Amino acid sequence: MAIPVDPALIEDLVVANRVLVNEGVLDAFGHVSARHPKNPQRYLLGRNLAPALVTAGDIVEYDLDSNPIEPPANFTHFHERFIHGEIYRARPDVQAVVHSHSPNVIPFGVTEHPLRPLYHMSSFLAPGVPVFEIRESAGMTNMLVSNNALGKSLAKTLGPSNVALMRGHGNVIVAKTIPMAVFRAVYTEVNARLQLQTASLGGPINFLADEEGEKAMQVLENIHVRAWDIWKRSVLAQMKS
Ligand code: MN
Repeated sequence: MAIPVDPALIEDLVVANRVLVNEGVLDAFGHVSARHPKNPQRYLLGRNLAPALVTAGDIVEYDLDSNPIEPPANFTHFHERFIHGEIYRARPDVQAVVHSHSPNVIPFGVTEHPLRPLYHMSSFLAPGVPVFEIRESAGMTNMLVSNNALGKSLAKTLGPSNVALMRGHGNVIVAKTIPMAVFRAVYTEVNARLQLQTASLGGPINFLADEEGEKAMQVLENIHVRAWDIWKRSVLAQMKS
């Protein structure tokens, strides 16, 4: 049976979808989920719908095999929900997951240039950004993580990192809260754009050192809520109008 959830959490999940659309991370595709607060073996994710259209009534509960719990008969489900189930299984510390095709990040998944933190706002990239090569798991595919085995491989590539790229496809972002997952998704896209711009200037790039990344990440723990607050206000205002 589905377990009732605090409506405030559902609201945050709905808001997260719309913030990520507003900030250019999600378009008609991609998704954001939260681990179930009362049962760590389950997670919450919108039904198969463009993120800008997700409302509270569209949020579905899934087990970690990504089977829906008591879904309405007319609902269909994201082909790539296995990304979420397998990351929650592999990473007990993770409470929220974003999967996007965030455009400026794509070049770093298909070249030898690693995505690295250029400034303090993206210091969460400092622990490293691995790249998932789907060919190593399954040879020639349609590029989608559409079953548990592929989800497991992706989670293994992610390891303890906050972000992993998916070659020729997109990325995944994890965090301990929905606001932090959204923050990281937005600033991963911004860092990627800045890194492309910086590379065009030529010469070596002076990225954050690991120790700087570590220290700057502590600051983000406190300040990311300011970003979430303003993003959430704008979305709630949009939803009312
Ligand atoms: Mn995808």
